[in-house]
Amino acid sequence: MNRLRLATLWLDGCSGCHMSLLDTDERLLDLAAQVDIVYSPLVVAKDFPEQVDVVCIEGAVATDADEARLRLARRRSRLLIAMGDCAVTGNVPAMRNIMGAEAMLRAVYLESRPLKPQIPADGLPHLNEQALPLHHFVPVDLFIPGCPPAADTLFAALGGLLAGTADLRLDTRFGA
Ligand code: SF4
Repeated sequence: MNRLRLATLWLDGCSGCHMSLLDTDERLLDLAAQVDIVYSPLVVAKDFPEQVDVVCIEGAVATDADEARLRLARRRSRLLIAMGDCAVTGNVPAMRNIMGAEAMLRAVYLESRPLKPQIPADGLPHLNEQALPLHHFVPVDLFIPGCPPAADTLFAALGGLLAGTADLRLDTRFGA
């Protein structure tokens, strides 16, 4: 049996979705027997490789760098899964969209009362005006909502892909 080449990518999220993936406990061992994790915060891999079967992406797109990483992952992956509410809807990162990026940065770095005003040595980070979900930029094959998605849900989705039983036309489709 061909082993599935699996990647995971962490954009503007809190890492909770990756924690949920780890929360599959001993079932991870079953998964590890059937997949090669070729790129992920969970393994040492510098560059996103070619010919990935499935990429699970956590987080919204909040910067140009996020967008570039997302587009590269899309080009090099057969199936792209939006993993968790930040990837599916924007969720927590998109809460700043009402006030805009600059006002939010000023509020956090300069006007936050419990903290001394502070500006990082290399200046304030450059954020896109809006934090947006993945499907604003690239086609998404499967949406798995949840904040974070339940470990059982993630395991069932990956297990279904491995067994060839996941029907991507059904289940949790969302967005444009
Ligand atoms: Fe964190 Fe929830 Fe966003 Fe996942 S969906 S990255 S758990 S805030």
